[in-house]
Amino acid sequence: MYPVMLDVRDRSCLVVGGGGVALRKVQGLVEEAARVTVLAPALVEPLEVMAARGEILVERRTYAGDARAGWALVFAATDDRAVNAQVFADAETAGTWCNVADDPEYCSFHLPARVRRGPLQLALGSAGGAPFAVARLRRLLERRFGEEWAEWLDAAARFRRAVHAASRTPAEENALFDRFFAATVDGERLSARVPTSAEEAEWLAVAVDHLAAEPPPAVTIGAEPCRAVAPALGLVSLVGAGPGCPGLLTVRGRQRLAEADAVVFDRLAAAALPCDLPAAVELHPVGKVAGTHPMPQEEINALLVRLAREGKRVVRLKGGDPYVFGRGGEEAEVLAAEGVPYEVVSGVTAGVAALAWAGIPATHRREAVRLTLLTAHEAVKSDGPQVRWDLLARDEHATLVGYMGVAALPAVVERLLEAGMAPETPAAMVEQGTTARQRRVVSTLAGLQEAVAAAGLGPPALFAIGPTVRHAERLDWYSALPLAGERLLMASSSARLASILEAAGADVVLLPLPVTPAARVVMAALPLTGCLVRDRAEVDWLDRERDSPGWSGGLSAWCLGGEAAARARERGWAPVVEVPDGPDCAELVARIAAARTPR
Ligand code: SAH
Repeated sequence: MYPVMLDVRDRSCLVVGGGGVALRKVQGLVEEAARVTVLAPALVEPLEVMAARGEILVERRTYAGDARAGWALVFAATDDRAVNAQVFADAETAGTWCNVADDPEYCSFHLPARVRRGPLQLALGSAGGAPFAVARLRRLLERRFGEEWAEWLDAAARFRRAVHAASRTPAEENALFDRFFAATVDGERLSARVPTSAEEAEWLAVAVDHLAAEPPPAVTIGAEPCRAVAPALGLVSLVGAGPGCPGLLTVRGRQRLAEADAVVFDRLAAAALPCDLPAAVELHPVGKVAGTHPMPQEEINALLVRLAREGKRVVRLKGGDPYVFGRGGEEAEVLAAEGVPYEVVSGVTAGVAALAWAGIPATHRREAVRLTLLTAHEAVKSDGPQVRWDLLARDEHATLVGYMGVAALPAVVERLLEAGMAPETPAAMVEQGTTARQRRVVSTLAGLQEAVAAAGLGPPALFAIGPTVRHAERLDWYSALPLAGERLLMASSSARLASILEAAGADVVLLPLPVTPAARVVMAALPLTGCLVRDRAEVDWLDRERDSPGWSGGLSAWCLGGEAAARARERGWAPVVEVPDGPDCAELVARIAAARTPR
């Protein structure tokens, strides 16, 4: 294989195929200012957008020998191997370089894996033999090469021009280039810096004989590399996803997810996954999903160790806080024993947040001055109680929060009553707290079980017992919000509108385009109640997601403007509601609120 870097500016390139793989090729070519023609009967939405913007030309039809015309490069990425093979054969006939995605047999050139820092590009290839190895190597280099290399290369190019302008001999030029390199690159750390203009001037002014006589000393740049260098062994971040509301994921948790190579997540953490997680990030669901069993703990431990040993940055995303009834401690023990670097990114635990969203302060001056977080399972365990029910029952100025509290509730209540707790102690159960599905019942210790059964509350839910529960009615801020209970899907990243709807109580799922695997996980995490569309393209695009889990039959389509509404009706969506698109979202909020089904 003979590597080259092609200047494709203004060259005509043909891409046969209109799916996600074709999209990536097209994006790469358009970035380099190639003239791209996409040939396919149908295009994914982002290609449509590029076509509408005039960035590419489109031939909407099936392939008919087009590769035989005079193209600079030809790509095939259809899902039909016979078509791909034909494209390759035609390109060969025409003497044109051709690449068929994922099919080395039909490639006269391969696309390297790239690490790019501005004009600096490292291209890696394996002659098609082991793309997996190259992908991992690329990831490693991606981490080792900081962003500073882009500016460094610009500076190097500038320096080269200045050297040429000074009319030196080739030997002198080389000596100057050595000086530049030695003074700006730390080879040990693989980091670089941009020299000051005074330094550059000084180097250029040095007398020629001096240059030749004295090789420049090696320099270490700064005390620290410009970008944290990841250890060869990966890192596992045990991250708390918060109780369900995506906004309750911490800033650091979000950061770790943005930098992750792999995410291992529980069912309760799914709703907090960022929808814009790149498609390249490995997603490992390990919780129970519709009908399947959760992955046994030992397998999860082994998975974390394996991923880290592959050099990956791993996020272990858990509901709430990883160390509160989340088995985070057990996972950390294993990582420590295996010598795998790890860290804990704490999260907002449901026992505090779900209560708050149900109007119950966890502590309250003079009323509750202690907080107990308890796993309710303890009440039904047969191997000897680890809970002093007698002490809890007598602790009047405390809040008792029971996780995993539905099935064991009767046993807990019985134990506390037996131990002398007042039957009229205020008590509540909160189901799916902080999410659009939040429900709660407020009662007394003696009446809670009946109230929970009557309302049909189920897991995940927790209970609170103690004096502060009596505030629940007055401090019920969440269900008082006009859009509490709404979970709305929005196609565009219309951030302003999303924040208005969120402030009104809605849970907003902002779908990136094209829809990422992470976004599909988020959509499926909790039922959606509606979607909001602005134009025809958004309707078409969302229409393709209609069979995804999370969508139910009667998802309301809120259409801003007539165009979107007409298209939604054409597509058979129901109910479709047209709302005038204007700067004032008050009407939109009011219309959605008025249509809410009482919960
Ligand atoms: N690590 C988690 C708890 C995991 S144990 C945390 O810190 O929150 C799982 C239990 O947590 C569930 O059975 C339920 O009792 C509780 N839970 C988790 N999310 C909840 C939510 N949104 N609303 C109510 N309870 C929740």
